[in-house]
Amino acid sequence: MASVNRSITIKKFQNFIKEVYGLSNSRYFGLGDMIVNMERFVMRGLKGIRKGDDQKTKLNLLIAFSWFTSIMNRLHIDVENEIWKRFPYLCSYCGTYPCICKKIKVKKRQKVVIDNKKRPKTIEQFQKMFSDVYPAADRTLDHAGVHLAEEVGEFSEVILTFRGAHRDEDFKNVELEAADLFSCIAGVFNSLKMNMAKELAKMYSKNCHTCKKSPCICNFTIITKFKS
Ligand SMILES: [Zn+2]
Ligand SMILES: [Zn+2]
Repeated sequence: MASVNRSITIKKFQNFIKEVYGLSNSRYFGLGDMIVNMERFVMRGLKGIRKGDDQKTKLNLLIAFSWFTSIMNRLHIDVENEIWKRFPYLCSYCGTYPCICKKIKVKKRQKVVIDNKKRPKTIEQFQKMFSDVYPAADRTLDHAGVHLAEEVGEFSEVILTFRGAHRDEDFKNVELEAADLFSCIAGVFNSLKMNMAKELAKMYSKNCHTCKKSPCICNFTIITKFKS
């Protein structure tokens, strides 16, 4: 049996997703299809924000995060490393903690010194890091949602560019945007005052959250018509 516990690392979550959904992803979905699925669940999550329905937002963003993880697996990206390189307990732009981008105009991205002793280990700790660097009190939930939408667009854009010419320098942008996208998912959960790892552990207490099997045996119609 495959399951997620609250202290799971991002790497272990990637392995969990691979074990449960690797087979059906390989059979049914190309990279572009997986991106469409991630996008549609992010959008459903945003609808939850507009309607003031936190449970709807939570559930849809957890599913979007699972699709995001499947995409990372497909591209063999160690997303935890990318997040840490981009956000080493510092804002990736002003290079400060907590971020001061709103208070002072930082003209260009600052060089950051990485202190590996501060590196979070679990999803829960990474979420806490984003809460420390980008305090939820400094923005509204709507703002966090708009930022997430923006990053989904940027992520799709770099994937499109990479798929156009298959250039390795374009792939680096995919890795960077993946880290940004994760930061925004964690940001919405911080604004919701919800613990992402705890919610993932509830949803994935046993294998696939829908069929409860590993590997997942949900058929193509169930997956593509799934609504939460
Ligand atoms: Zn900043
Ligand atoms: Zn299933």
